[in-house]
Amino acid sequence: MDTSKEGCWAASFDSSKISFLPEAVITPRKEAEIGEVLTLANRHKVPVTVRGRGTTLMGSAAPVAGGWVIDMLKLDSIKIDAEAGMAHVQAGAKNGDVQRAAEAKGWFYPPDPSSKEYCTIGGNIACNAGGMHGGKYGVTRDFVICLRGYLPTGEAVQWGTATKKFSAGFNLRDLWIGSEGMLGVVTGAVLKLVPQPAARWTLLTAFKTETQAVNAARALFRLRVQPAICEFLDRESVHCAESATKRPVFAGQKDRAVILLELAGTASEVKEQSKVLLAWAKQHALAYRAARTRAEAEQLWEVRRKCSGAMFELGDAKLNEDIVIPMSSYAKFIAFLMKLKKATKLAIPTFGHLADGNLHVNIMYHREDPAESKTAEETVALVMRTVVAMGGAISGEHGIGLAKTPFLRIQHNPAQVSAMQAVKKALDPNGILNPGKMFTLFEVWKQPRMDIHLPWDHK
Ligand SMILES: Cc1cc2nc3c(=O)[nH]c(=O)nc-3n(C[C@H](O)[C@H](O)[C@H](O)COP(=O)(O)OP(=O)(O)OC[C@H]3O[C@@H](n4cnc5c(N)ncnc54)[C@H](O)[C@@H]3O)c2cc1C
Repeated sequence: MDTSKEGCWAASFDSSKISFLPEAVITPRKEAEIGEVLTLANRHKVPVTVRGRGTTLMGSAAPVAGGWVIDMLKLDSIKIDAEAGMAHVQAGAKNGDVQRAAEAKGWFYPPDPSSKEYCTIGGNIACNAGGMHGGKYGVTRDFVICLRGYLPTGEAVQWGTATKKFSAGFNLRDLWIGSEGMLGVVTGAVLKLVPQPAARWTLLTAFKTETQAVNAARALFRLRVQPAICEFLDRESVHCAESATKRPVFAGQKDRAVILLELAGTASEVKEQSKVLLAWAKQHALAYRAARTRAEAEQLWEVRRKCSGAMFELGDAKLNEDIVIPMSSYAKFIAFLMKLKKATKLAIPTFGHLADGNLHVNIMYHREDPAESKTAEETVALVMRTVVAMGGAISGEHGIGLAKTPFLRIQHNPAQVSAMQAVKKALDPNGILNPGKMFTLFEVWKQPRMDIHLPWDHK
């Protein structure tokens, strides 16, 4: 148990940069220690917050009620069952390490948050994290076979077994996935793997407007082509990427929205589908470029990798929303965003995954400018209301935590919120695990933020 000032400070915040000091940080070396900590915490009514790597942007790992932090850092074993196509991992294993271990045995673990080199599988499960491969393969939830861990009251539990089928009893595995560390502590998981794709092929396409780009994407999906990745960048995001890479995305093409596509599969599948994609690009895009080599593909991907960090040239603060829009509302949502940019005069660069409708709407503002900060705050609320009115979701991957508490009740009616609270009460009668999150209104923009640079900032 670390009660030092430095140790507690380091566990006091996540990527939201809002800080609440815990009283102690516990770094278990054995999973059973977590049960002991929770039993003790219930006896003495001490709040406990589990911490993966603190990459969440929602404040969900910040110990808002103080108490103890359980740091999962040391529980990070990974074992690949190459016959069954499963990864047996401890919750503190990093996503990137699981991906590399699977690849070494010819398997592929598709959920790939951009933070994969830092974030843990436990954090991914708690937030139901997704990534660029979500549209074709799915998100973390689609790859969890079984979970083990501890109830908030300290009892050991296992939801499911390392088998591909399991229909014995209530499915509490899925209740834990996305529960943001409030319904139990995940100590280990068995994850589903898929065969490593033998071939990949990348295509960059440019469009005059965002509306043309999203309509073209819908035309592509109607052809029943399933790209492994289908990333959209609006013109503002492309400007940011261009200023970071110091070269135009397409020579001679200024001010374009882009879609970046990747096919993955067997060599013959990719060859067949690339023909369809090229014909589609010829019909719909203003310009397009296919990568001939992996190195060229990497260069095309730079536009996507660089855009997010470069957005800070448009404002020193960012409200990074991860909303989801049904495909049928893409064009309507783009029209709404265009109006919003004009009305608020804020830069709102938007990019994201068109195959699953998960768009990152980045509301940029200057923290020291009170009028701009207020406009940004009102803008995010309007975005959330509009998204739900269009049949979408206020979060597709980051969760609620502290930052999205003002919007939970836009998504969920009182009966739904009460049902969630009843589950929480049933599993955590003393309110020990990650209290103060999700249901209690927290106005994140009124909180002081730490002036600190994290290793994954601007990635
Ligand atoms: C640069 C950057 C890029 C990102 N890109 C993506 C992206 O592409 N897709 C995406 O989905 N997210 C993304 N995120 C958000 C974040 O990385 C994910 O939510 C990630 O899953 C959090 O993992 P973590 O290990 O850092 O968890 P933490 O941030 O430490 O914790 C997150 C939540 O999970 C709970 N938790 C952690 N471990 C456990 C456990 N073992 N048992 C129970 N609860 C636990 C915590 O209590 C907390 O509520 C990004 C973040 C950054 C900073």
